[in-house]
Amino acid sequence: MKEILFTKNVPVKGKYDVIVAGAGVAGVAAALGAKRAGKNVLLIEKTITPGGLATIGLVNFFVPMCNGRGTVIIKGMAEEFLRLSIKYGFDSIPECWKNGTAGKDTPRYMTRYSPQIFALALTEIMAEEGVDLRYDSIVTDVDMQQNANGMHCNGVYVESKSGTEFFEADVIIDTTGDADILFRAGVPTVQGKNYFSCFGKLLTLDSCRNAVEKKNIGECYRVCTGGSASLYGHNHPAGMKFFTGTSGEDVTEFTILNQKEMLRKIKGDDRSSREIVTLPTMANYRTTRRIDGNVTLQESDRYRHFEDSVGAICDFDRRDFLYEIPYGTMVRNGFDNLITAGRTTSGEGYAWDILRVIPPAILSGQASGVAAALAIDSKRPIYDVDIPSLQKTLAAQDVMIHFDDSLIPEETREIKEDNGHV
Ligand SMILES: Cc1cc2nc3c(=O)[nH]c(=O)nc-3n(C[C@H](O)[C@H](O)[C@H](O)COP(=O)(O)OP(=O)(O)OC[C@H]3O[C@@H](n4cnc5c(N)ncnc54)[C@H](O)[C@@H]3O)c2cc1C
Repeated sequence: MKEILFTKNVPVKGKYDVIVAGAGVAGVAAALGAKRAGKNVLLIEKTITPGGLATIGLVNFFVPMCNGRGTVIIKGMAEEFLRLSIKYGFDSIPECWKNGTAGKDTPRYMTRYSPQIFALALTEIMAEEGVDLRYDSIVTDVDMQQNANGMHCNGVYVESKSGTEFFEADVIIDTTGDADILFRAGVPTVQGKNYFSCFGKLLTLDSCRNAVEKKNIGECYRVCTGGSASLYGHNHPAGMKFFTGTSGEDVTEFTILNQKEMLRKIKGDDRSSREIVTLPTMANYRTTRRIDGNVTLQESDRYRHFEDSVGAICDFDRRDFLYEIPYGTMVRNGFDNLITAGRTTSGEGYAWDILRVIPPAILSGQASGVAAALAIDSKRPIYDVDIPSLQKTLAAQDVMIHFDDSLIPEETREIKEDNGHV
């Protein structure tokens, strides 16, 4: 391919303790985690709305956060965000969790929420807590240098209406969902594959009537799909290729195919009977690219304790199944100030799905922010932070670090519910 050399002088716009790239739920949790640990933090987001897939991707469902037997497993900032997501908008938390009767075989602890209102609440909490925000700004590249611990990232190049700017930082957290920063920094990454999926929100006269009758505005939404493939690949059209989500061409093709399909599906309807209230403004890719971390979580790691766990999590489709997030899934030896969180943590196959959904993504985000602060304070490489100190801080923030062995069933029951949406 023909190439041209592109050089220019770029202003060094600021210096931060911690820069977080990408304001999905993991990025917001990371920024708050570092800020609450006393660091000055810049969060850079390419759109103008925080929340990522959980808001502008219209994936407005906190998957189950309990073990299906009445015990909440995923806590800390994940539970704080669940509460925040419904603070100003509707919820669908099962009644048993509201009246204290949740237990064996009752519905699990989960909720739907208004994606738009959750986004507003995320901006509000970050502004209140003093996280510096840059919206409509995309991190395009990194400045790397060799030091005694390996490779060090001096800061990031950012493109916005202001032109190209450079921001310095002691630690950079990649929560772009696509491992953009790690990839450009030379951290080993793994490419994922994606099915044909796109979920929009539709109102119909019937759904609005239903919402009025139930006196719950949340009941007015119907899902309208372009591609409707589930995370297991059900409904992926036969013969259609898989998508990557890591090139401009792929994102464009995926978007055009999904938008054409969504339009095709509603074309026959009475035009005055329905309205698409909002299209996803972020492509609905599940697994684009992740870190090839020091540790890669496996599906078979259920019920395994990790010494470096930063939080217990549960399987969203199977009751009882418990996991822990090893810190090693977020870092790579040899890169002394780069860490990732959210859907770019290191998991193989279905374990990647377990790690990437909203509650675990928030939990790893929180852990990355706390770890960044700890690395700075202790002057240690991010891949070598003191794990007991990290765990102590997270436990004080209500994170369940290790699940209790009494929660492991004698005979594991596998109740697998493909809800077709995650
Ligand atoms: C079709 C589909 C259905 C799903 N259903 C569910 C569900 O029902 N329940 C559930 O819990 N999970 C579900 N998930 C998974 C879940 O939504 C995501 O995995 C989770 O929200 C990921 O959060 P994140 O913060 O890691 O990443 P993302 O949400 O991807 O956020 C990344 C952010 O970084 C920004 N960004 C990207 N690149 C740059 C850059 N270079 N510079 C600056 N900013 C950048 C993006 O704009 C975005 O805001 C679903 C996912 C999909 C695709």
